[in-house]
Amino acid sequence: LYQSPILANAIDSLHESIRYLNHRTDCENPVKHSILAAYQAIELLLKEALHNTHESLIYHNLNQPISPDSRTVSLLDAITRLANLEISLEESDVRLIRRFAARRNRIQHLEYQEEDYDRSLVGEAYDFAFRFVDNHLSLILERYMINELYIEMMGEIGRYEEVVEDRTEDAQEYIAGLSPEERASVVLVRCPLCDQETLVVHEGKQGYCCICQTNLPVVRCKTCGTYVLEHDIRGEKCWHCVKKHSPIGE
Ligand SMILES: [Zn+2]
Ligand SMILES: [Zn+2]
Repeated sequence: LYQSPILANAIDSLHESIRYLNHRTDCENPVKHSILAAYQAIELLLKEALHNTHESLIYHNLNQPISPDSRTVSLLDAITRLANLEISLEESDVRLIRRFAARRNRIQHLEYQEEDYDRSLVGEAYDFAFRFVDNHLSLILERYMINELYIEMMGEIGRYEEVVEDRTEDAQEYIAGLSPEERASVVLVRCPLCDQETLVVHEGKQGYCCICQTNLPVVRCKTCGTYVLEHDIRGEKCWHCVKKHSPIGE
């Protein structure tokens, strides 16, 4: 996997932005912090593209001797610089970045009052990041991100179905690659965590979900035949079956 310190920093900010959006319930203005982190992520991704052309291009003033502490180029200047290097962004993306930069400047330098569109703006920023990494850095963002946060980001930008499709194919390809004997003892079933048919279970062993990207201790319920997490089994029944037959009912 290709690594660079600027890219790693960008991914870290992207992770942080998603965490604020979805997991930082203890913080007063999670969306504000999410915007700031997403802005930083995008600025760094653009710098990574400049850096790929020449390492000095990330610095603001190229007419002075450069040191690692020299001022670096701003996000909006980076767009112009990329255009001059014939790394052009779509007109709609330039407008998006300008809107995003304006929102971020207000937050960074003036005040924060949550607006209805803030969350969708962050989503648009993620969508831009996703496409920019693919188109201009020629990298697959998925490989650099924490799986759980990547899935959440894809959900945020309306691309969750794409993930499901890709990962279902991965699971099917994995099974197709097994020897006929191995294949006979493998099933592809619905994952109790993400509810997609991407859980590969080798008979008598734990399962692996291609969406959750984790091993799951699952067992087959003897009553209804569904695969459930080990701790959701009570004797011969899973919790669905226990609930169904309980005298108290739902
Ligand atoms: Zn899953
Ligand atoms: Zn059951």
